[in-house]
Amino acid sequence: MFSRSFQALSKRYLATAAKSSGPKTTDVLIVGGGPAGLTLATAIKTSPILSGMRTTLVDGQNLTERVANFYDNPPAEFTNRVVSLTPKSKKFLTETLGVPLMHDRIQSYDGLYVIDGMTDARMALDHDGMLDMIEILNIQASLLHRLNHLNLEKDSFEIKEEVKVTNIESSVKGDPQSWTIVSLSNGEQYKTRLLVGADGFNSPVKKFSGITTRGWPYDTFGMVATLKLNQLSPFAKLRGWQRFLKTGPIAHLPLPGNNATLVWSTKGNDLSQLLCQMDPKVFSALVNAAFILDDADLDYYYKVLGENPNDAATNERVIDDIKDRIEQVWDALKDDSLIDERYPPQVVDIVDKTRARFPLKLSHADIYCSDRIALVGDAAHTTHPLAGQGLNMGQHDVEELTKALEKGTLRGLDIGSMLCLEPFWAECYPFNNVRLGMADKLHKLYGTDFGPVVQLRSLGLQITDNLGAVKSMLIDTLTAGAAK
Ligand SMILES: Cc1cc2nc3c(=O)[nH]c(=O)nc-3n(C[C@H](O)[C@H](O)[C@H](O)COP(=O)(O)OP(=O)(O)OC[C@H]3O[C@@H](n4cnc5c(N)ncnc54)[C@H](O)[C@@H]3O)c2cc1C
Repeated sequence: MFSRSFQALSKRYLATAAKSSGPKTTDVLIVGGGPAGLTLATAIKTSPILSGMRTTLVDGQNLTERVANFYDNPPAEFTNRVVSLTPKSKKFLTETLGVPLMHDRIQSYDGLYVIDGMTDARMALDHDGMLDMIEILNIQASLLHRLNHLNLEKDSFEIKEEVKVTNIESSVKGDPQSWTIVSLSNGEQYKTRLLVGADGFNSPVKKFSGITTRGWPYDTFGMVATLKLNQLSPFAKLRGWQRFLKTGPIAHLPLPGNNATLVWSTKGNDLSQLLCQMDPKVFSALVNAAFILDDADLDYYYKVLGENPNDAATNERVIDDIKDRIEQVWDALKDDSLIDERYPPQVVDIVDKTRARFPLKLSHADIYCSDRIALVGDAAHTTHPLAGQGLNMGQHDVEELTKALEKGTLRGLDIGSMLCLEPFWAECYPFNNVRLGMADKLHKLYGTDFGPVVQLRSLGLQITDNLGAVKSMLIDTLTAGAAK
């Protein structure tokens, strides 16, 4: 009892002491230790022009235990937050910034196979080494590893973890060009020349800046899971699979060995909740069904499983029924090799506790900077994951912000001034707008079961499948340049 109140007292004392000694100064304060924030910190500290800038990174989470340990003690199974990394993003991380990614946990693959679940129209976007599947924790832990091995002085770079931003204000009231004061939940204050919001969708930095955002929620959840596959056939192509169902797209993307990652987007709340809670064996069978059977079959399974939640007999019946129906589809194919060509490897199980769901939305900040402020990553934009662009756009933001800071520094500009920051958002806004628009239009185009639209989009898919030049353009947009 005594020791607890003593601890509370000493915490309060330390907080007051930190406050009374005045704010610490830093050149750049990054809020957010997600992939965007850690990449920016590494870009600054490895840049010959910027590395001398005092840089501070603040995150509400425990980065040392949760993230950095992942590098030295990686778990046996793959974690559930996995993204597709474009060759451009990978080159920026590994070649420009020298980040030693954990290569044995990355799977490169050679294309995407897209299927319209309502009409069975198909398109194969084949390109060697088109994308890499990588865990977000791999990116974050590798960045922290790189930063640790730079052996930076505390004066040069500091991470404040398990600390939240509680207040942001200009040091001179009413003058947005004055340095910014950031208050933290541990009582400390920082005065910074440039404040970067890499703090995700609910960005406190964006709120402080008053920068407005456009967009809308999709009334859709993206559900993720780590899949265990049956023995891969030697003929199976290493590709990603995406099928557009009436309820939203489902994607099955390869990881090393007999592993894959799933992103299953579904409208409304109920279906994603049902998928998250059902028995793992039924769930695995349902993933297989979602790539092979019709929407009507799936609707029937959702109904039966929803009405009899976790009933062992119902589960058995559904699993057997799915097996029989899939066998029938395979038997109808004249050539066995078509199974590997047209359908992803079968799922036999999922890794425990890897099912999770995220609400999906479109949002785009009107500008990415104002006096003393820059926004990168999800703080500036969020998108539907069906085109795999969110994290890659954030990497591009960081690359361009670093270039703008380097140019500004060489010209003797104040790095927190609009003159220095403007080229960054002038470059990134249109680049991101194209990708956000593409994902939004695809979501809408495939979110309808209106007959004429369904026929037209299927025709479009088949025509695109036969037009090499259009396919190359599509691959270029998805990968920011892999087809060149
Ligand atoms: C289902 C799904 C699948 C996806 N698939 C892909 C894909 O294939 N390819 C792709 O490119 N992208 C994909 N994305 C998008 C990608 O995951 C995100 O764009 C990316 O992770 C965002 O990174 P970030 O660093 O900008 O933000 P975040 O990862 O959200 O990091 C923000 C950080 O800020 C910290 N923070 C927030 N507020 C405060 C505060 N007040 N004080 C201190 N710290 C704070 C948080 O703790 C957090 O660490 C997918 C997204 C989803 C939901």
